[in-house]
Amino acid sequence: MNNFEKEAKYLIQTYAKYPIELVKGEGSYVWDSTGKKYLDFYGGHAVCILGHCHTKIVKAINDQSKNLIFYSNVFSTAPAILLAEHLAKTLEPKEYQVYLTNSGSEANETALKIARKHTGKDRVISFKNAFHGRGIPPLAVTGIDSYHKYKPNLDNYTSFAELGDMESVYAAYNDNTAAVICEPIQSIGGLNMAEPSFYKELEEFCKEKNMLLIFDEIQTGLGRTGTFWFSEYLKVSPDIITTAKGIAGGLPLSAVIVKKEFSSEIKVGDHATTFGGGPVPCAAAVATLEIILKKGFLAEVSGKEQAIREKLKDNPRIIKIRGKGLLLGIELDNHYPNIVKECNAEGLIISTSSDKKVLRIMPPLIITQSQIDQFAEIFIRVLNRQ
Ligand code: PMP
Repeated sequence: MNNFEKEAKYLIQTYAKYPIELVKGEGSYVWDSTGKKYLDFYGGHAVCILGHCHTKIVKAINDQSKNLIFYSNVFSTAPAILLAEHLAKTLEPKEYQVYLTNSGSEANETALKIARKHTGKDRVISFKNAFHGRGIPPLAVTGIDSYHKYKPNLDNYTSFAELGDMESVYAAYNDNTAAVICEPIQSIGGLNMAEPSFYKELEEFCKEKNMLLIFDEIQTGLGRTGTFWFSEYLKVSPDIITTAKGIAGGLPLSAVIVKKEFSSEIKVGDHATTFGGGPVPCAAAVATLEIILKKGFLAEVSGKEQAIREKLKDNPRIIKIRGKGLLLGIELDNHYPNIVKECNAEGLIISTSSDKKVLRIMPPLIITQSQIDQFAEIFIRVLNRQ
């Protein structure tokens, strides 16, 4: 049996997979088991934010794993403390505290629990087309119908509003509402975003009604859109920010970052997780953040976005480039079902979204102009022959 046959026999299949086995990554490229090289504009689903096997992250993982791979949270370990300090400092002068978790789904579940604890209320307002994870609570606030077949108790729990429409938020509110959860740029939903003024109004409405505003920055955070947090660009201070994806250079880790006025209400015994804040992923995360937060690093993101936009303009099949920074959606005039597969064949990895006409690109923040040129050359060639 080859590995694909073994995989079909032993691994439960929940993804529609491409028949490619990856064996190596370096910078913005990955290689498959036949030695073929791919330019990675998908980044393992927005995870590889600094590309693959960044030397500083590899060193941090190696160094930490020689000393202590794991201990649970009943003892202190320095990488978790350092990581929390870095994250909290990104939001100063406002005071935040950090709770470390393992996945985006777990971070959002934790945020929803904190909102319930603070308010003593149950209901949540979320947005149509938002995605918040695959556990039952995050599914209950996910606004994409195809994820609702397991009936995560939506009627008793969530009211869905339209991103960008405050009237629909007012209509979704009732006096049992604990929180609004918002994916500020809906990535899998097709790169939808509202006008900046909408998010400010949302923040004000949450304050007025004593609801917690949760920003799911799992895709938009960590510099992906050009500022460390997308909320920073919007000048909005969410009560809770969740982050995951690229935070630990590809190791599983996520964080719930909570305004101190709410985090201080959380007491010993209220919540726990075994693996959250383990020393190895936290050491990788500290190394990741130190690179992203280096002066000047994020200033380059919007130039790279402009370079991509420039390369894709004037193609009659491209209606619009959606999104911000290096979280972009290419809206096409039609659904071309073979385009991703054909890009793979030509050595380029890109992604789809739940809107069949919108393809997504979330390349590493370290991409260069020549890699942008290479991407555009392959993508346009493949697009033009559809
Ligand atoms: N929120 C958003 C915005 C996401 O994109 C994702 C993952 N695609 C999640 C939550 C869930 O994260 P995870 O798969 O790590 O549970």
